[in-house]
Amino acid sequence: MTDKASIKHIKHPSPTSPEQRAALMQNPGFGKVFSDHMVTMKWTAEKGWHDAEIKARAPFSIDPAAAVLHYAQEIFEGMKAYRTKDGIALFRPEENARRLAMSAERMAMPAVPEDLFIEAVETLVRTDADWIPDGDGSLYLRPFMFASEAFLGVRPASEYIFCVIASPVGAYFKGGYKAVTVWVSDDYTRAAPGGTGAAKCGGNYAASLIAQAEATKNGCDQVVFLDAAEHRWVEELGGMNVCFVMDDGTLITPPLGGTILPGITRNSILKLAQEAGLKVEEKPYSIEQWRKDAESGKLREAFACGTAAVVAGIGAVRFRDGSFSIGNSGDGEVTARLRADLVGIQRGNAADKHGWVRLV
Ligand code: PMP
Repeated sequence: MTDKASIKHIKHPSPTSPEQRAALMQNPGFGKVFSDHMVTMKWTAEKGWHDAEIKARAPFSIDPAAAVLHYAQEIFEGMKAYRTKDGIALFRPEENARRLAMSAERMAMPAVPEDLFIEAVETLVRTDADWIPDGDGSLYLRPFMFASEAFLGVRPASEYIFCVIASPVGAYFKGGYKAVTVWVSDDYTRAAPGGTGAAKCGGNYAASLIAQAEATKNGCDQVVFLDAAEHRWVEELGGMNVCFVMDDGTLITPPLGGTILPGITRNSILKLAQEAGLKVEEKPYSIEQWRKDAESGKLREAFACGTAAVVAGIGAVRFRDGSFSIGNSGDGEVTARLRADLVGIQRGNAADKHGWVRLV
C-alpha cells in the first residue's frame, strides 16, 4: 500500500489551461480557488485502506444516510506547500500526520498511517505543482476524512473516505500582515474538558461559527474563546493559537490541556522564541490579566499563529462592554522577528536547523 506505485493515477480529461490557471491565481484570496486534482482512498473494516487514486477533482457521490451527514464524524488537517529556491517544500508534514491520527482516535475513526498520509500529500503536490503560487503565496493542502457508511445508528461507522485537495492561497487576513482585531466571546465556548477541543474535527468549527459571525459583526477579524468551566482563561482563537509577549522578555501561551488545538505553528514558534532568547511559559492567562497588562504596558505584544494566518499581531481586543489596545496597536518587534524566522525556514531562506522542511 505504501510503495510509490500505490496511488493509482487516473488521467484528467480536461485540466485547467495555463491561461485560465494564471487568471485564477492572480488574486486567489483564501480557500476559494482549487487545483485540478484530488487524492482519495477508502477504508472498510474488512479491507483497511484501499483504492488509493489521484484523479480530476470532482464532487463525491455519497449516500444520503452517510454517517458524516448525520453525526459529523469528520476530521481534517491544514498545511502548505511552498515554492523555494531548493524545490517544493512542505513544513513538518509528519506533525500533520500525527495530529490527524490523534483526531482519528478521538473521533473513533481509523488512523491513516503516516507514510501513506505523506505519500498522498506529496503525490497531489507533485501533480498540481503548477498551482503553487510564486512570491508570498502558497498551496494550502486540505487532507480530510469522513464516515461514508450508510447507516443511521449511532456508533462508529465501518466505512470512511480520506481525501486531499489543494487551494492556491494568498494572505488569510484581508489586510495582509496588518495587526488584527479580536472579539472576546461572552456567550459561547469552543471546548470543554473531556470534549473534542484538541481534535481537528469539523464539529468544533461548526460550533464556533456563531461566535466567529459575532466577531465579524463587531468589526473583528477573529474570535477569542475562553475556557468553558470558569469563562476566564484565554484558550485560543477561532482558527489560531495565541501568544503574549511581556516587557521582561517572557512569551506566555495557554497550555495544551485537551481543550486547545495543538498547533504546529505554535510548537514551532515556541522553539524559535526560545532560540531568540525569550523565556517561554505555557501557563494559563486570564482575560482580566490580559486587559490589566495591556493597560499597564507590561504586555508589549500579542499575536495569533497558525498555518493559514502564519503569525499575525493582535492590535486590539473588543468585548461587549469595551475594548483595549495592545502596545502600539501594530505589529510588534518580537512578532515580526518570530514571523521572519519562521517564514525564513518555510521558504528556504534560513537554515533549517530542526529538520522541519521536507522537499517534495
Ligand atoms: N487552533 C485552531 C482552532 C485551528 O483551527 C488552528 C489551525 N489548524 C490552529 C489553532 C493552528 O494550528 P496550526 O499551527 O497547526 O495550523
